[in-house]
Amino acid sequence: MTCLFCRIIAGETPAAKVYEDDQVIAFNDINPQAPMHVLVVPKRHIATLNDLSHADDGLVGAMVRAGAKVAKEQGHDGPGFRSVFNCNAQAGQTVFHIHLHVLGGRVLTWPPG
Ligand code: 5GP
Ligand code: ZN
Repeated sequence: MTCLFCRIIAGETPAAKVYEDDQVIAFNDINPQAPMHVLVVPKRHIATLNDLSHADDGLVGAMVRAGAKVAKEQGHDGPGFRSVFNCNAQAGQTVFHIHLHVLGGRVLTWPPG
């Protein structure tokens, strides 16, 4: 299996899991950019946001809600948190299995770099 996140989902590569249900898993980013930096990943391989179809609308909703749940569990719902999808090279996507970054625990500037 060549996809890093598929290997994590399969349990072949370790990750610090913080949430899992039938559709998604969430784990800590290995190179955190904030005190909380979680990646929410669908269990089904989808390379980029460009590959989503109407049938995936529920899955994307589940990803966003899983990220909000983890943020709340870690106390970041009130102060605030950021959820980000990067799509393709110019946006900085490096792992081609879609994932929602969920960042919190510090002031996050806007616009992003
Ligand atoms: P992207 O740049 O594709 O939006 O985000 C990929 C993220 O995956 C990066 O924030 C990077 O730190 C994270 N990452 C890369 N390799 C690993 C790994 O082996 N384990 C974990 N937990 N995160 C990883
Ligand atoms: Zn994958």
